[in-house]
Amino acid sequence: MTAYIPFARPEIDEDTIAAVSEVLRSGWITSGPQVQRFESELAAYFGGRPVRVFTHATAALEVAVRLASVGPGDEVIVPAMTFAASANVVALAGGRPVLVDVDLDSRNTDAARIEAAITPRTRAIMPVHFAGLPVDLEPIYALAARRGLRVIEDAAHAMGASSRGRRIGAQGDLVAFSFHPNKNMTTIEGGALSFRDPGELERAERLRFHGIRKLPGGGMDVLEHAGKSNLSDVSAAIGIAQLARLERFNARRGALARRYLEKLGGVSGLRLPAAGHAGHAWHLFAPLVDFDALNTTRERFIQAMHARGIGVGVHYQALHLFEAFRRLGYRAGDFPNAETIGARTVTLPLHTQLRDEDVERVCEAVKASVRQAK
Ligand SMILES: *Cc1c(COP(=O)(O)O)cnc(C)c1O
Repeated sequence: MTAYIPFARPEIDEDTIAAVSEVLRSGWITSGPQVQRFESELAAYFGGRPVRVFTHATAALEVAVRLASVGPGDEVIVPAMTFAASANVVALAGGRPVLVDVDLDSRNTDAARIEAAITPRTRAIMPVHFAGLPVDLEPIYALAARRGLRVIEDAAHAMGASSRGRRIGAQGDLVAFSFHPNKNMTTIEGGALSFRDPGELERAERLRFHGIRKLPGGGMDVLEHAGKSNLSDVSAAIGIAQLARLERFNARRGALARRYLEKLGGVSGLRLPAAGHAGHAWHLFAPLVDFDALNTTRERFIQAMHARGIGVGVHYQALHLFEAFRRLGYRAGDFPNAETIGARTVTLPLHTQLRDEDVERVCEAVKASVRQAK
């Protein structure tokens, strides 16, 4: 029997497990010395910018949205092709996620689409570095500066990505990362926020811990209502070990993606993702399959892949077609590219433990599943 190939899989080595055991035995398991060390190593990784870590990227985005003063009546521009968390945090703050379409190949949005969606109520722009392919940031930041807008980058896919030779997270305004097990590095659950303005750190720390300010003498005050999203030392210890291996992880992802591109080039009915960007973090490898032209459905394709022992994901369905977004007034037809991606995308296995021969197996299965469809 051949082994099942999942579409994502974290890589945790024995040293990491030993480091976690040490934290568990230390007597201090929630936020403490490991979190401090993880934050300072992340700061060094991002060229000295301050970084704070959270229980997940969604919490980092929630804090970013509050730092950007998004409240009732405010709008934040978000691509229609992303994970629901990007837009949910805006709605949860009482704001309105104003969706924009993306490019069919890069899956990213751009300054022109964003500019067309700006209104007097726009507070912030949230570009998403989809699948780890960096958004073209320069025109977006130029636009934000011209219009006086904050930029919150959803870099959940983009740990280790770079744009014009500079790391995502080492530039920009507020940049959020995810360390969910499916992402390029993990802390089990976890996230980080990289800051341009060190003056926002104190408030960010409050927002991740009940709005509390500690007073000299041991007392405290609660300055504003806030939730709780501090990372544990156990997770931070995993993050420290993962960060040390990130370059290797991403190099392997890149090599596997190039192999896919080579093996799947020219397969009819398949549209491959944009490639050739040197700073791509290759979080996902997700071609578009024209199921209609192949006279089949995504469900049948996924079943056929499963039958060959291969996991396939869907990243993502278009946001505006979900019930909660339809309630905001969005309709089918609003964002044609996001809809096409949402209907045709399939995420093929891409993780550091995938072997070259696994890629061969996946590609053969894709070709067979596409043929079988006819
Ligand atoms: C994974 C993901 C998030 C949320 O990350 P969590 O760490 O699970 O909260 C946000 N945005 C995008 C684009 C993601 O892929």
